[in-house]
Parts: sequence; structure tokens; C-alpha cells
Amino acid sequence: MLSMFHPDAYIASLTDIRPEYFIERGIKGLIIDLDNTLLSWKSGAIEPEISGLLQDYIAAGLKICVVSNAFNSRVSGIMSPLGIPGVGRARKPRRKPFLKALKILGTGKDETAVVGDQLFTDVLGGNRLGCYTVLVKPICKTEFVGTRFVRIAEKIVLRNLAKSRVIKAPVRRQ
Ligand SMILES: [Mg+2]
Repeated sequence: MLSMFHPDAYIASLTDIRPEYFIERGIKGLIIDLDNTLLSWKSGAIEPEISGLLQDYIAAGLKICVVSNAFNSRVSGIMSPLGIPGVGRARKPRRKPFLKALKILGTGKDETAVVGDQLFTDVLGGNRLGCYTVLVKPICKTEFVGTRFVRIAEKIVLRNLAKSRVIKAPVRRQ
């Protein structure tokens, strides 16, 4: 049961993962969460460091699709200027938005990574599909009130995973 929440990698920031990391693992497509993974949930724009990294991923041949529970208008407003497609109102961990993203990417489940900051939406959704999953520490500490309760439950699961040595502490940013 706990294995469904087990990410394949746990990192402090997306900037800890260079394109080669995915390519070496046979990954061709990335399904990336928006809020608190690519930008702070209150912010309207992606920081240059992150948007530059996304361009590096694309230049390396990786395909990207954002899957977010946020409104379509927010997702496309942020991602369209970068030329990256997005699926909004996803209600993760439902399968449907992930399947839609796979169709957009044109990649198979076993060659796609799901990257996000939440265990119960991003990691669970990706694992249910059989994708490679990456848990990222949330960008912003102050969050939507509903998310705060989820974080308490997340902490308990993460602690259990750490105890069973399934995951290590997140990689420190240099
Ligand atoms: Mg998120």
C-alpha cells in the first residue's frame, strides 16, 4: 500500500535534475506539476532559473506537458509563453489527466516521468500509471489552507518511507 506513495527520486528542487538524469533512465516525456513545483502557488510567472531549465530539457529532446489541478486559464497563461502544453483542472490523482498528457507527449508510461510536490496527487497518480515518479520539495512554504492538512498526512507517510529506508532525505541544492 505504502509503495504507491513511494517516489523513485526525492529532490529539493527541479534544478537538481539535469536532462541527462532522465535520458540515462530511458525517459522521453515529463509530466510536471505546476504550483509549488515550477513556481510558488501565489506567483503568476516562472522564475528564469526554472524556465531556463525547462528549455534545457526540451533542447535535450525531452517532451514536457504540465498537469495541474489549477484552472485551465492559469495553466495556459503561464505555460503558453514557454510553448509548453498543459492540462488544467486535472483533479489528480485521477488517471484521466495523466492519460491525456501521455497522448499529448506521445510517450509510453514506462518512458515518462511524473514530477510534482505532492505525494497524494503527483506521486500517487504517476505510480498508479506505472510512470517514473519524482517528488520535489514545495517551492513555497505558505500554502492554500486545504493543502496544509494534506502536508501533515504527507509528513507521516514520508517519515514511514524514510524509516523503512525506501527514500532518502532530499538531495541538497548546491
Ligand atoms: Mg503542486
